[in-house]
Amino acid sequence: MDKSQARGESTTGQSEWKTRPPYRIHESNDNFDAKYDASCHCGKVKYQLSREEPLDSKLCHCTTCQTQHAAPFQWAAIFHKEDINFSHGHHDLEWSIEHKLPCKVRCSFCHSPIMDEGRNMILLFPSLIKFKNREEVAKFKPRLHMFYGQRVMDIPDGLPKWTGLNDESDLIEDSPPEQVREMERKRRKEQNEKSEKAMEEEKKKEEE
Ligand SMILES: [Zn+2]
Ligand SMILES: [Zn+2]
Repeated sequence: MDKSQARGESTTGQSEWKTRPPYRIHESNDNFDAKYDASCHCGKVKYQLSREEPLDSKLCHCTTCQTQHAAPFQWAAIFHKEDINFSHGHHDLEWSIEHKLPCKVRCSFCHSPIMDEGRNMILLFPSLIKFKNREEVAKFKPRLHMFYGQRVMDIPDGLPKWTGLNDESDLIEDSPPEQVREMERKRRKEQNEKSEKAMEEEKKKEEE
């Protein structure tokens, strides 16, 4: 990709990734069920999400997130690439260096961080979503703190706190390992039940 594409200026070149999720623009007959609307600070970058609840939601206290977001910590939610619809596709977006995964994606005008694009998933920042009520916000409630060892402030909220990456580091502070395992078991069980139900509904739809 050429440099001007990275800045979101040149968008005429033929690059296959532009036509794939998460940048593929959904047509009105795609059945993309928009549940949330989001936009960057200046409003040039707009997107919708079709999934009601993120796959995961975390607060990251690492110093990279602190610097990148100029904030004490970062709130991130994980989605499938198919769950997002950028109303202008790849236009108005910029990539940290070039479009090479994993990469950081920002608005090319106001430079608001939009998401981190991984190989399989996207990690987006729910602060950009225009939530309509507290129930919607609750669906994005963070489930854990990671890199809590690098924190600039304490958050005594009873959520699991990992010194580094979750599941790969030590639990500290108000996170008794047994309690955390129990919370996670409960959450996974609920999630499985939900996805089974959704699969059944989809199956039913297909049969109709
Ligand atoms: Zn912007
Ligand atoms: Zn981080």
